[in-house]
This record gives sequence, C-alpha cells and structure tokens, in this order.
Amino acid sequence: MRQVITAADVEQLLRSGQGTASIPTDALLTPSARDLLRNPRLPARPAPEPKPDCGCPHGVDVTDPASVSRFFNSPELETIKAQMCDIGRRMWEKDYVDGNGGNITVRVGDELVLCTPTLISKGFMKPSDMCLIDLEGRQLAGTRKRTSEALTHLGIMKRQPKARACVHAHPPHATAFAVASVLPPPCLIPEAEVFIGKIGLAEYQTPGTPENANAVGRVGVEHQVVLMQNHGVIAWGSDAEDAHWKMENIDAYCKTVWIASQLGSGLHSFGPAKLKELIGIRQKLGMEDTRLDSKDCDLCSPGDFRAAPVKTPGEAANVRQGT
Ligand SMILES: [Zn+2]
Repeated sequence: MRQVITAADVEQLLRSGQGTASIPTDALLTPSARDLLRNPRLPARPAPEPKPDCGCPHGVDVTDPASVSRFFNSPELETIKAQMCDIGRRMWEKDYVDGNGGNITVRVGDELVLCTPTLISKGFMKPSDMCLIDLEGRQLAGTRKRTSEALTHLGIMKRQPKARACVHAHPPHATAFAVASVLPPPCLIPEAEVFIGKIGLAEYQTPGTPENANAVGRVGVEHQVVLMQNHGVIAWGSDAEDAHWKMENIDAYCKTVWIASQLGSGLHSFGPAKLKELIGIRQKLGMEDTRLDSKDCDLCSPGDFRAAPVKTPGEAANVRQGT
C-alpha cells in the first residue's frame, strides 16, 4: 500500500531534524506536501502550534469552530452542496440508488471533504443536509450524521490525490456484474475505453468498515471505476460531475454488453491495436492508464466473462421440461 504524505508529515520531519530522506520514493504526496518538499521552510519562531493543513482556499482553521462554520457556509461550498443534491436527484431518477443507498463526496481542500448524510434518499436532499469531514472521517460540520460509507470514498482519496470527488451507487446493470464478480470485457465500445478506462474489481467487505475502505482504496488508486463485489460501484473524477459521468458510463456499458451477449452471435472485439489508439486519446485528456504496460494478448482478454450460450431447439425444449 502506498503511503500518503501530507504537508503536516513533511513539516514534522523537518522540525524533528530527521530530514525528508525517509519518505518512500513511491509515496503519494499531497500538493501542499510537494510544495513544501520543493521549498522546505518552517514557520518563524516562536513556532506556533502546528495546525492541521486542510489545503482549502480560505485557510480555514479546523481547530476553530467559527472558522469551520464560515468555510462550511461560504458561497463556494454552497454551490458544491447544491451540485451534490442535483447529482443525487439524477442518480435516483435513473434507478442508480434505492431507499437510502448511495453517497457522494467532494474534496474542498487537501484534507477536507463535503459528504452526503446517512439515511437519506439521494433524490430529495437539500444543501443544508450536507456534512463536512476530514480525511479520517471525523465530522467537522453539518447537522446530520455523515454517511458510514464515507470511509470507502476516503480510502480512495487518501491514496489518489487526483480523486477530487467520488460517487457511490448501486446501478442495476453494473451491480449485476459486481454480484457475478465478473468484469465486462474490454475492446467493445470506444467511448468506454476513453472515459472509463480499465475497470477495477474490489473484494467484498462489509460496507462502512475500514476493511472495505482498504479493499476499495487499493483498487481505486489505479481505476477510476471500481465494481465492489456483491455491493455496487464507486467512481471518482476531477469533480462531482466527472465522477457521476463515470457512473453513467459504467452502467450504460454493462447494460449494452449484457444485451449484446444475449443476441447469440458473440461479441466483436476491435482488438489491441485500436485499443492503444483509444488509450492515447485518454492520456491526452489527462487521464492516466496503466494498460500500455500490458502485453497485447492481455489487452482485449474477456477474462471471466462468457456470453450466454445459444441453445439449440432441442436443448431449449429439455430446459422447459426440466430434463
Ligand atoms: Zn452501497
């Protein structure tokens, strides 16, 4: 598991005189940690109490409730809260969430996150329902209790700084693949390769637990869309809208693959050479992709996916008679 290093961690190393050589070369650095490493500096003496670095635009002091409240109710955050309500309504209208299912998180600083509350229909949320939490899941503001599944979102955000927002839902087609523990095969639809990229599959763990956060977080580092075994889907993006688009992309893709697999003629793959062109387009759009490191023979492998076999009339009659 890659270690996440924040500006506070770097500052602590500098203060202790240990230097920063002990930071693993593959560690994930927050933007403010990277800045501090490039330009190491310590606060002027006498050194003030180190304050948690939220990396937020207003320099909010998370130890001061008035400062947190001002930030939480600022026009910028009210805009994001309204956008979260809008996305929740769209997910509910598309049957991606039922009952109180699904949740949305949006980073509003390196270490501060807006999230939806627990036990609420995503179709009928109000901006005043939203919660503010830190990367450990501690609630800092909001009158309702934060969703227990926030930990799963944070499992990705802590490991992947580019994950500025996460959307979790139970869209029926993609969730069906997650329940069957099968990834939809690649090399079938160009838009899916560009905008979803390689799809991840995270092992089942009980929702809301640290084990689930770790299982999903480990897969989410390199996959913007993760099927959660026996559960649903989580997608991340550069903002809430981007993450939601990926949720729409994956459910539409799974739905189309499912229908095509029933047609009886098999699925036509456009092959690894064309996939590489699409990965190039994806990379030009700023989205990372590890698939170019794979061998050609693996790039379009259907994995465990099998299209439904076509039955002969005789076989179909046997099924009807229960033989
Ligand atoms: Zn869920």
